Amino acid sequence: MSLALAARSTLIAPSATLAMGAEAKRLKAQGLEVLDFALGEPDFATPPNIEAAAIRAMRAGQTHYTPPAGIPELRQAVAALYTQQHGLSTDPAQVVISNGAKHSIHNALMAVCGPGDEVIIPAPYWVSYSDLVKLTGATPVVIPTTEDHGFKLSPERFLKAVTPRTRLLMLNSPSNPTGVVYDRIELSALAEAVLQTEVGVLSDEIYEQLTFGDAQPTCFATLHPALAERTITISGVSKTYAMTGWRIGWAVAPAPVAKFMGDLQSQETSNPCSISQWAALEAITGPQDSVAMMKAEFQKRRDYVLERIERLPGVTCPPPGGAFYAFLNVSAHLNRTLGGTVVSDSTAFCRAALSQARVALVMGSAFGAEGYVRLSFATDLRTLERGFDALERFLHESVVRAPL
Ligand code: PMP
Ligand code: GLU
Repeated sequence: MSLALAARSTLIAPSATLAMGAEAKRLKAQGLEVLDFALGEPDFATPPNIEAAAIRAMRAGQTHYTPPAGIPELRQAVAALYTQQHGLSTDPAQVVISNGAKHSIHNALMAVCGPGDEVIIPAPYWVSYSDLVKLTGATPVVIPTTEDHGFKLSPERFLKAVTPRTRLLMLNSPSNPTGVVYDRIELSALAEAVLQTEVGVLSDEIYEQLTFGDAQPTCFATLHPALAERTITISGVSKTYAMTGWRIGWAVAPAPVAKFMGDLQSQETSNPCSISQWAALEAITGPQDSVAMMKAEFQKRRDYVLERIERLPGVTCPPPGGAFYAFLNVSAHLNRTLGGTVVSDSTAFCRAALSQARVALVMGSAFGAEGYVRLSFATDLRTLERGFDALERFLHESVVRAPL
């Protein structure tokens, strides 16, 4: 008799971003050259002061269990960050340190959603949102937004989607995958709409420090004094400090929600890695010059990417205001024959681009937006240049290779 899987096993698919990243790595390991724009992770090394803090922590014996919600020093530092930099009066008891922002999102959803509940997710959305909602037993209610409306959710559409079962609205600005940054006025209008309802907000602000030009990040919970008690803010060190592998994220939540999230962690993971927590403490309290350096480099790449997209036949892209993704509208190419196969959707487009141009992208359908593909520009300019050369040839159908 084979061991039967629980019904919940049908609710989730593997993360498409991680799957595409793994596929690109697999091909590279076979000796193929792949121009890899699949995964959203900074290609920079973790800054040396942060690495040094981790080594110091190990040498000082910080290699044991910590409190489940994180070491007091880090919870205190995160609370101070929100209080001082964002003007959001935050008590350390409201801060829960986790094994990455993804973990915080999961635990936040576990804290407030369950069977029968609905969670509003504007699309395009980051791949994990809908599956993490489903895992709690709640239903994701996806509201498509369009490029014409800047991929932004309007207060009217939010209010129309609210039912007596709606528990949460999930927001992500700067956005993965579109790079869209809501401005303060737009977010305030959404905040006012939220306050007309009983709905809470999960605001994923992981790309808050990565904005370009005039775009400014906004901490949603600061928009109205009544929001703090119904908003869960998510962020972490993965993107800002090139620390994806260290696995440290956090949630700032109303105290009872934070208490439950800590208790949940005590049962599921005990605590986030002790050494990584000390490294994260250095990241947010130590010198910030490496952040400015990485941001300037991302800005250069973004400008280069936009210049090259202009030259891609039949492709458009709303200029990203933040994060490190370009969301390419490739709908003009759907149902064309590219590299010998008919490209009927964004998955087929990505498959053909990988097999013919050796360019790894992520299909828009994984983000709830068919007709688009996501390109991560968290990679060096030389690779971007070669990738766009290959994409240009691919779209002009001058690449014909044997399929992989
Ligand atoms: N939210 C968004 C929008 C992301 O793009 C990511 C990327 N991984 C995460 C959350 C999760 O971050 P972490 O690596 O800290 O889990
Ligand atoms: N957030 C990154 C991305 O969207 C990393 C992958 C993941 O965490 O799923 O590519």
